[in-house]
Amino acid sequence: MASGEAKPIHVLQLYPRDMNIYGDFGNALVLSRRLQWRGYEPILHSYDPEDEFPEQVDLVIGGGGQDSGQDKIQQDLLRLGDRLHALAEADTPMLMICGLYQLFGHSFLTREGREIQGVGILDLRTEGTDTRLIGNVVAESKEFGEILGYENHSGQTYLGPGVEPLARVTKGEGNNARDAHEGARHRNIVGSYLHGSLLPKNPAIADFLIAAAVANRYGEQIQPSIEPAGSAQPIDELTRLARSTATK
Ligand code: GLN
Repeated sequence: MASGEAKPIHVLQLYPRDMNIYGDFGNALVLSRRLQWRGYEPILHSYDPEDEFPEQVDLVIGGGGQDSGQDKIQQDLLRLGDRLHALAEADTPMLMICGLYQLFGHSFLTREGREIQGVGILDLRTEGTDTRLIGNVVAESKEFGEILGYENHSGQTYLGPGVEPLARVTKGEGNNARDAHEGARHRNIVGSYLHGSLLPKNPAIADFLIAAAVANRYGEQIQPSIEPAGSAQPIDELTRLARSTATK
C-alpha cells in the first residue's frame, strides 16, 4: 500500500522524558514498524507533563523510570486519570512497563515510606523494598507463550482480584519475590516489569496490541503472521536474535 493510502494508528507514549529506561523506547519502534508492515501509518505522540493530550489515541504505551521520575510525573498522571480510565474502559490497548505499570495501580509505597498515588486502572499495589530484583526473566503466559525480558526494580507488586497475572515466572522474580506472578492483564491492558525492551523479544504481545487498536479503530483484523516487505531478514530471525541474549 502506498504511504499516502495508509490508515493512521495513533500511538501515545506517556512521559518519555522521565519514564523510558533500559531501552523501553524500543517498544514504540517495534509497534511502528509492525504497523507499517501491515500497511498502517503509525503516528507517535509523546506526552510529557502539561503537554496537550492528543485528540485521537488508539494505543497507549509507557515505560519504566526511577522513583524520582515517578515523583515528577505523578501529579500530571493523576490529572489524566479520567481520560486514561475512559480509554481503558473503551478497550484501548495499553502496554505499561515497570514504573508506569506500578503507577497504573493504586499506589507505590517507596522504600523511604513515601506514598506515590497511582491512577488505579489496574487493581494492584506496590511496596518498595531494600532488595532490588534484577536480572533476566523467563515466564510462561497462556495467551502469549514464553515471555522473555529483563527486570530491575525495588518495588514489589501484589495483584488484587480485578486483574489476572500476565504470566508465571520460571526464571527471575517478576511482580514480587513471593508468588511467581509476572505482570498483569485487564481488558486490553498489559502491565509488565519487563524491559529489554519487551516487544522486540515478544512480538506476540506487540501483535495483540496492534490487533486491538486496528479492530477498535477500523473494525479490521490483522494477519497473525507477517513477512516484512523489503526487510533483509525475516522477522522470525530478528526475534530469535533478540531472544537469544535474554535467557542467560
Ligand atoms: N522505580 C521503580 C522501582 O525501582 C521502577 C523501576 C523501573 O521502572 N525499572 O521499583
